[in-house]
Amino acid sequence: MKILLVGAGLSGAVIGRELAEAGHDCRIIDSRPHIAGNCHTTRDGDTGVMMHVYGPHIFHTDDAGVWNYVNRFAEFLPFQNRVKTTAQGRVYSLPINLLTINQFFGTTLRPDEARDFIEDKADTSIDDPQTFEEQALRFVGPELYQAFFKGYTEKQWGCSPTELPASILKRLPVRFNYDDNYFFHRFQGMPRDGYTAMIAAILDHPRITVQLDTAYHPDMAAEADHVFWSGPLDGYFDYRLGRLGYRTLDFERFDGRGDYQGCAVMNYGDRDVPYTRITEHKHFSPWESHEGTVCYREFSREAEPGDTPYYPIRLVEEKALLEQYVDLARATPGVTFVGRLGTYRYLDMDVTIREALDTAQTFLSHESGGKAMAAFAVSPV
Ligand SMILES: Cc1cc2nc3c(=O)[nH]c(=O)nc-3n(C[C@H](O)[C@H](O)[C@H](O)COP(=O)(O)OP(=O)(O)OC[C@H]3O[C@@H](n4cnc5c(N)ncnc54)[C@H](O)[C@@H]3O)c2cc1C
Repeated sequence: MKILLVGAGLSGAVIGRELAEAGHDCRIIDSRPHIAGNCHTTRDGDTGVMMHVYGPHIFHTDDAGVWNYVNRFAEFLPFQNRVKTTAQGRVYSLPINLLTINQFFGTTLRPDEARDFIEDKADTSIDDPQTFEEQALRFVGPELYQAFFKGYTEKQWGCSPTELPASILKRLPVRFNYDDNYFFHRFQGMPRDGYTAMIAAILDHPRITVQLDTAYHPDMAAEADHVFWSGPLDGYFDYRLGRLGYRTLDFERFDGRGDYQGCAVMNYGDRDVPYTRITEHKHFSPWESHEGTVCYREFSREAEPGDTPYYPIRLVEEKALLEQYVDLARATPGVTFVGRLGTYRYLDMDVTIREALDTAQTFLSHESGGKAMAAFAVSPV
């Protein structure tokens, strides 16, 4: 079959590879001038530093199948994300752990003592937290909420934590030990030569052709037996019902020499600092050494038409609109909507790959059984 895949990010690349290996001809287009979508990495011309162009990307998963898959196409080196935060004039360890608590309150508590101490701070009158703020107050109390969650969340989401659902904050956002590894997953690492090299290797198959700087046009679908769409769901329908809300990011680059901040990611919790974090890219490749350094100050705001969509907002209003687009998509034969934009969900890379592998398998088994592929392999609602 002739398959058209819109988007050369992880979703398009993995589905394309699986279908190409099964004997189908895959044409992959992307409106951007590079492959790899939002995982795109490139070596900076001035400093030689490997840059995470659309923000920091750390690979972490518990899915052994996905870990084996990525290791087929790239050499992964050990990397653990250890984020710090500057708040109220001091630097603290994140996620909030025993070191953070002891630093913040000037204590020397052991795990059980810290648990009791934080339980005393928590607002236990909140039985069933509904909002982000209630959730934070219920679990960490007002001081840690003010320092680590309130200002950061206002900057990240552009609204008060009282307007956000409790589900955005994990149930227990505190660790009562000194573990400061951001992720719990069994497999964690960074591709030695960056994500773009890994995705180039996935796309390197004689049955795959890639066209960059090529935006989708409906005429292209007429030449294909099936389309996989990893662009924005509402974009496929020319935003005819309105736009699904996204947050976008602006990066303000600055260069220096040596080591600017001593870690890859430094958050800024205070509301009066306009950016949410600073990323220093050289720390994503600790096995390399470079004289120069490149940092990004990261600012979050609501996406306007033409901006890169980053985080789906998915509040009540968006969910109602999403359902309407899902109905439109289900009434559109020959197209399957995939990936973070096609299903309007935040997806980590490992989940994106798992869903892409499963979607390709479903397509292949439907095709051999003469069954039509559904609009969604994973429902967005
Ligand atoms: C700031 C940020 C940080 C992240 N950090 C991590 C992390 O640390 N760890 C982790 O596991 N995951 C992380 N992720 C998630 C990761 O970026 C996604 O899992 C991954 O990018 C999803 O791949 P995708 O192919 O579905 O989408 P994308 O990468 O967005 O690819 C979609 C592609 O479709 C193209 N396209 C769209 N419309 C059209 C059109 N009309 N015509 C042609 N092409 C089109 C786009 O140009 C894009 O290249 C992060 C995401 C963000 C936003």
